[in-house]
Amino acid sequence: MVTRRPNIVIAISIVLASAILAIAVWVLVQMRDDALRRAQDSVFNVSLLIERDVSRNLEIFDLSLRAVMDGLNQPDLMELKPQTRQMVLFDGSASAKDMGSLFVFDENGNVKFDSQASPPRDFNVADRDYFKVQRDSRNVGLYISRPFMPKARHKDISIALSRRISRPDGSFGGIVVGTIRLAYFHRLFDGMNLGPGGSMALMLRDGTMLMRRPYDPAIVGINLTGTANYSRFITQPSGDFFGTASIDGVERWYAFRQIDMYPLILDVALSTRDIYVEWRHRAWIIGSLIAALDATIIALAILFSNQLRRRREAEDELRELARTDGLTGLNNRRTFEELLDEEWRRAQRNGWPLSMLLIDVDSFKGFNDLYGHSAGDDALIAVAHSIAQNVRRPGDTAARFGGEEFAVLLPDTDEAGATSLAEQIRAAVQAHQVRHVASSHHVLTVSMGVATAQGNAIATSRALVNAADGALYEAKDAGRNRVMCYRAAGNVSIDDVAPAALPDSLPTTELRSDT
Ligand code: GH3
Ligand code: MG
Ligand code: MG
Repeated sequence: MVTRRPNIVIAISIVLASAILAIAVWVLVQMRDDALRRAQDSVFNVSLLIERDVSRNLEIFDLSLRAVMDGLNQPDLMELKPQTRQMVLFDGSASAKDMGSLFVFDENGNVKFDSQASPPRDFNVADRDYFKVQRDSRNVGLYISRPFMPKARHKDISIALSRRISRPDGSFGGIVVGTIRLAYFHRLFDGMNLGPGGSMALMLRDGTMLMRRPYDPAIVGINLTGTANYSRFITQPSGDFFGTASIDGVERWYAFRQIDMYPLILDVALSTRDIYVEWRHRAWIIGSLIAALDATIIALAILFSNQLRRRREAEDELRELARTDGLTGLNNRRTFEELLDEEWRRAQRNGWPLSMLLIDVDSFKGFNDLYGHSAGDDALIAVAHSIAQNVRRPGDTAARFGGEEFAVLLPDTDEAGATSLAEQIRAAVQAHQVRHVASSHHVLTVSMGVATAQGNAIATSRALVNAADGALYEAKDAGRNRVMCYRAAGNVSIDDVAPAALPDSLPTTELRSDT
């Protein structure tokens, strides 16, 4: 089947190549999903880690504020020596690296106690948000301030944690404050590996930016309210999504979370570029290899299919050569006999008549002797042409029977039809006017025997050939250049056929014989 239809090879190769491509695409999609999943896991883990660290430190710091407040409740605090008082108030307090000073401010915002100095440094914080908020409301609890530049010794941008001191009657008695340098968050963020396009940010719930990585001092303190990402951060306690940062316009995968009990939001993000960079590299390699493989498969299939096509053409040509006569291009005798058997069976089956003509060139030996063998070949070609010109009905077969003899097989044709065709051929050959001085007709002519199998008179295909041969012999005997029909009881010439059975246009053999 494949040899008959070489395009199937190409079709199969295309299906195969498409299957390989589909598998590759599937694998690449899986790899892409895996890359995203890994990124999601890593931003989730980093965000969890930072949240734990921040909330733990804030908790410890808050405990320090509470310890100071407990110390303030000591009845005889002011009677103690300054050094002892410092110990009572601030000894339980945290003293980690970026945890700044602890202060107690009075109701006017002036420093009352200072963990770093005794006597305390002198400044006023009545204008600070962490002071005003606690002064104006009783139930704020722990307040985390916006970033500010401290008025005390350290000039590192900081935030403050404050708690209100309420007097026994509930009135405002000042605040306890601890400062944290933003450098703490900066260092915390820097410790994480997030790739070149990664980002992290810590902000107050109100949208105030406290720290961001990549670090830019100008960003600290800006308000993010209204940005797309911030709008999503405040809707849920935690979550993740693809978003684009308003600050740098980079698309990233974000994981965000509210920090435990504090009014803080943390986000950790990996840039889409970083997430897929490795995948993209591999996709290029795999994609190129698959494309090359597919192209090779299809190219080989095309080569193979061309090879098959050429072979099929050669086979067809050989088959055709084996069926035809090399000189005249008509069917050869073997083909004729095959077709004869076939048509014989068909005619028997259907009860159709089957006629055949046997054609022999007249005095051809003499023609060869006179004009040469090559001119004889040309004459045979001309005769074959005259035959082919007249045998045109589909199903009719003309063949070179051997030497200067030809045969025509006419299925479903009765004797009258066959005789009429035979006469046309005879006339056509004669009309060719091939000079033949040795012939009594002066031009090249043919004689023909017609035999028709209809009814039971002729019993086999071989008998049909013999009958035609017999009729041909009769035609020769009767003077050549004529058509004779086979009769079981004896042959009759075309002239003996009843005139009504012949077309009017047909000239009689006698008329022609003297041309
Ligand atoms: P007739 O049939 O009229 O009785 O006479 P004839 O001369 O044709 O008789 P015969 O059948 O004896 O001669 C046939 C000649 O045809 C013999 C041979 O030289 C010639 N012949 C057969 N095949 C070919 C061929 O392929 N080419 C040529 N040039 N001549 C051929
Ligand atoms: Mg002969
Ligand atoms: Mg002859």
